[in-house]
Amino acid sequence: MREAFERFRKANPEPKGELEHLNPYTLLVAVVLSAQATDAGVNKATRALFAVADTPQKMLALGEEELRDYIRTIGLYRTKARNVIALSEKLISDFAGQVPRTRAEIESLPGAGRKTANVVLNMAYGEHTLAVDTHVFRVANRTGLAPGKTPLEVELGLEKVIPAEFMLHAHHWLILHGRYTCLARKPRCEVCLINDLCRWPEKTV
Ligand code: SF4
Repeated sequence: MREAFERFRKANPEPKGELEHLNPYTLLVAVVLSAQATDAGVNKATRALFAVADTPQKMLALGEEELRDYIRTIGLYRTKARNVIALSEKLISDFAGQVPRTRAEIESLPGAGRKTANVVLNMAYGEHTLAVDTHVFRVANRTGLAPGKTPLEVELGLEKVIPAEFMLHAHHWLILHGRYTCLARKPRCEVCLINDLCRWPEKTV
């Protein structure tokens, strides 16, 4: 475990998420919009949106209809627009317009689940949370780092086995590894940094 993360750190000491945002609020909105969509697709839409609405107050002033126009290219945009307006209202009414700092409070916002809360807590507030998306799920299972049948099982398993010093960046190292190296269909085992440590019987090296 330690060896794997030391290699990830050496190759990329300060990994960054790929969802563009300006502050905790725009990060929260970007994550809500990213469900079943690619980060690149979300970024294309949010660049113009966040230029006019980077706070809950400005999002409400923009209104649901105009918001829909900005995010029309993203899947499920109608539901997502409704959620973004509702979560902005709730941020203002219950949290003085600020994104809260606990998982339970973030999960109470419309459209935000555990994964959203973990991403926001990690990227906006530096908490040692670990969001399990499809890439992290695949990498954890294939390598044997933390096998599990559900994202929650994998999340709890990873939290248990990853040394604390790597937890802040673990989420991004694993996502980037899954997105660019340990690909779903054709993993690039020949260039994989941890191919000697990986326990997947079907690895190709
Ligand atoms: S060796 Fe292959 S299967 Fe294992 S982590 Fe690397 S890319 Fe993924």
